[in-house]
Amino acid sequence: ERQNRQNIEDSIDRHFQDTMRGGHNKNNPELVKKLVEEAPTTMHWLEGKGLGFWPKVRVIVGGLYPRGHSAEGGGYGYVKVLEKFIKAYPDKVKVFTDTQAVKLIKNEAGKVIGVVGKQDGKTVNFMASKGVIIATGGFGSNVEMRQARNTGVWKEVTLDKNIPCTNNFKASQGDGLKLAEQVGANLINLDDIQLHPGGTPKTGIMSFWPSGRNRIFLTPQGDRFVNEDAARDTLCKAIFKEGGNYWIVSNHVKYPTLDYLSKNLTIGEMINLGQAFSGNTIEELAQKTGMDPKKLRASIDTYNDVVTGKIKEDNLGFKKFTQDDKPMTEGPFYATPMVPAVHHTMGGIQINSAAQVLDKNGQVIPGLFAAGEVTGGVHGSNRVGGNGIADAMVFGRVSGQSALK
Ligand SMILES: Cc1cc2nc3c(=O)[nH]c(=O)nc-3n(C[C@H](O)[C@H](O)[C@H](O)COP(=O)(O)OP(=O)(O)OC[C@H]3O[C@@H](n4cnc5c(N)ncnc54)[C@H](O)[C@@H]3O)c2cc1C
Repeated sequence: ERQNRQNIEDSIDRHFQDTMRGGHNKNNPELVKKLVEEAPTTMHWLEGKGLGFWPKVRVIVGGLYPRGHSAEGGGYGYVKVLEKFIKAYPDKVKVFTDTQAVKLIKNEAGKVIGVVGKQDGKTVNFMASKGVIIATGGFGSNVEMRQARNTGVWKEVTLDKNIPCTNNFKASQGDGLKLAEQVGANLINLDDIQLHPGGTPKTGIMSFWPSGRNRIFLTPQGDRFVNEDAARDTLCKAIFKEGGNYWIVSNHVKYPTLDYLSKNLTIGEMINLGQAFSGNTIEELAQKTGMDPKKLRASIDTYNDVVTGKIKEDNLGFKKFTQDDKPMTEGPFYATPMVPAVHHTMGGIQINSAAQVLDKNGQVIPGLFAAGEVTGGVHGSNRVGGNGIADAMVFGRVSGQSALK
């Protein structure tokens, strides 16, 4: 309904096609079908729980289409709303924080019936009457694991500790994969690792917003080098070709004031931390960043020619995507140094469309379900931007429904 209001044509089928194309058709179509069919209903379900979504959809970096529905409060918005919901049922739902799942418990018939947890050095056993759902995320921060598995799209790049990760260090160690493997689950496509172009150098933190519009990607010298609307693997490969780091350049259209929030820091805070530079003119920005002023001006001019309709498309294939694409004509101009960072691990536990975990013979492991980044097959070899949360929410819900059957 939001897309209709913005005159953006979309359909379940188009979302399916984009997800398959983005994943280089390595996705499991059965899982993709479930994802795209359930994404709108799951969003409505979340709205019913009190989660607000912004009225305008946006093109998420690597999202390939204006389809990104952003929740109010970002990631925490989801947690806050779902936490409030489960708190209404204290006799039914108990939450144990800082408790690490370390082993799954199987009975003699081969059914998964519980989880062994560790809390403050003590063992806590959780017995399940209906089923166990693994939803422990990916292994992006586990340097050893990602190096051992890096035989896919990034095999030419050493994914060692010099390549940062956008994710929470402790939460993305791949624990769930180890738990599942111990009970015979089939792990698939672990070499499909996604890098995101929006990492802060050294830390990988996504404090700057490479998504949205009105920004261009430039080489350290100030040349445009890639269509910013390309898929994430294409973007990161182009960045590595240019030496591994690049600038995102924008102006006051994107950041109207210094206290404008750019993801989790304001643009003013970013400047104070040395994570962004500003210049009232193109020449001043070039001087502060070491870019060649002529190249920087030429790059901004080409972008402006496309968004003002002077040319239909530039030589990189960049086109005006939405009415929100505006020219950058006046300062202040901003530049942020960025690097590719490990962001998502597309491979994982093999599931069917009911989120049941499969073993190496394709048989269901009774009592065991999995959802979200810990699973494999939904995203193929490249996750389309915006499909990460959709995946976690859709299959999170599906796994709960399946376990209750
Ligand atoms: C900075 C950033 C921005 C993003 N922006 C977007 C976006 O705009 N749109 C989008 O669609 N996607 C986005 N994503 C991707 C999206 O957040 C992930 O795809 C999604 O969070 C995966 O959900 P999940 O529940 O499977 O795993 P997670 O969100 O990683 O949650 C896994 C949880 O399991 C816990 N855990 C791990 N191991 C254990 C264990 N042994 N015992 C107990 N608990 C354990 C972790 O602590 C964590 O809380 C973004 C990701 C990052 C890092």
